[in-house]
Amino acid sequence: MSFKDLGLSDALVKAVHEKGYTVPSPIQEKAIPHILEGKDILASAQTGTGKTAGFTLPVLQHLAATKHPKYRPLRALVLTPTRELAAQVHDNVREYSKYVDIRSAVIFGGVNAKPQIATLRSGVDILVATPGRLLDLHNQKAVSFKRVEVLILDEADRMLDMGFVRDINKIISFMPTKRQNLMFSATFSNDIKKLASGILRNPVYVETAPQNSTAKKVTHKVYKVDKNKKTEFTIKLIKDGNWNQVLIFTRTKHGANKLTEKLIKAGISAAAIHGNKSQGARTKALKNFKDNTIKILVATDIAARGLDIPLLPHVVNFELPNVPEDYVHRIGRTGRAGAAGEAISLVCSEESEYQSEIEKLLKEKLKSTIVEGFEPTDTDPPKRAASQSKGSFGKKNNSGNSSQGNKPKSKPHFKGNKPSEPSGRGRNSAPKKKRY
Ligand code: AMP
Repeated sequence: MSFKDLGLSDALVKAVHEKGYTVPSPIQEKAIPHILEGKDILASAQTGTGKTAGFTLPVLQHLAATKHPKYRPLRALVLTPTRELAAQVHDNVREYSKYVDIRSAVIFGGVNAKPQIATLRSGVDILVATPGRLLDLHNQKAVSFKRVEVLILDEADRMLDMGFVRDINKIISFMPTKRQNLMFSATFSNDIKKLASGILRNPVYVETAPQNSTAKKVTHKVYKVDKNKKTEFTIKLIKDGNWNQVLIFTRTKHGANKLTEKLIKAGISAAAIHGNKSQGARTKALKNFKDNTIKILVATDIAARGLDIPLLPHVVNFELPNVPEDYVHRIGRTGRAGAAGEAISLVCSEESEYQSEIEKLLKEKLKSTIVEGFEPTDTDPPKRAASQSKGSFGKKNNSGNSSQGNKPKSKPHFKGNKPSEPSGRGRNSAPKKKRY
């Protein structure tokens, strides 16, 4: 099967060939023909599957084929949960649309809105945006959704997690009811199904990997180590293994900063990426990491979500996530595009329960190793942590900024009353924002 066989135009095929893609990925093969037919899609796609091209290519083809000779109203809208993902998707849109007369733009918070308004005013066919800033600009009448023909929700599960459901519904309320809807999500919770049923019309289900499955070539390693020894152990792993490009996950922003500082002190180049960092700092950290100017990127879950970092050999969980699905997302960063990868988790006694939940989800026992000199001294899970997290596992930790971030938390998951907007936008009635 080739891109041409999928029904894509020569201009688009040329652009993807220039990117070095020779054959469509499974999600592209399955989704593109349906999208070209104008159908709604509900797709389960892990990160790294090529889903961006999967929705962008057929949408570009539609836009190019039905273009108004004079006007450029906004006709396709891609909503993403994070600024980084928006920028990344837009980079792809630009590359794929190189040989078609389609204008695209990206909109997200944390940066000056004026140039964004000017771009929108000059006419854009396809827009990639995070929901908060987009609504702000809509309120300022800088953009209209009246002519939107295709709506794409990328990483819909994460958008729900981040409390964007109200913003999304608001945006949709300004759109024509007759439109094509494409929804991509790595997981399918009941909340996602509910959102999908409200938006999609007779969707075609596209699935490329069993739900919550991990990439085949990823090996999982668990090191049992005391909480207070984790930093030292991480430094040892990096130095002994001579690692050059490692993504390390911490559960909190504070934890990310602290670890980054200690790595730098130990002579290891590192940067942190999380919701408290300015957009400039986030972009720079990611760029430096991709260029190999820095070896280590320390990230919180949401900041790292959807980032396209190809062929990452190692991913380290400095702390296990308290939502087992996040483990799957995290390790989706390694073993990509058929390459082998290693997911390494540092697990202290408090986190044993998290490990069991992850094993349940993966249907696989993770092999634990103890390293000489780092033998855990505290092997009994503390009663308080165990009883606290009982029944609350799988619920999201609301206190991403906590300074005692290593502790498993058991705050209730946002239900209904979700935080509004992680981009720093004020909103009087909204509950406190959750920023990662
Ligand atoms: P995505 O899941 O959309 O973030 O894509 C993951 C990575 O796969 C990106 O680096 C894409 O450039 C790359 N990619 C997408 N489609 C293909 C393809 N058909 N062949 C090879 N690489 C691809």
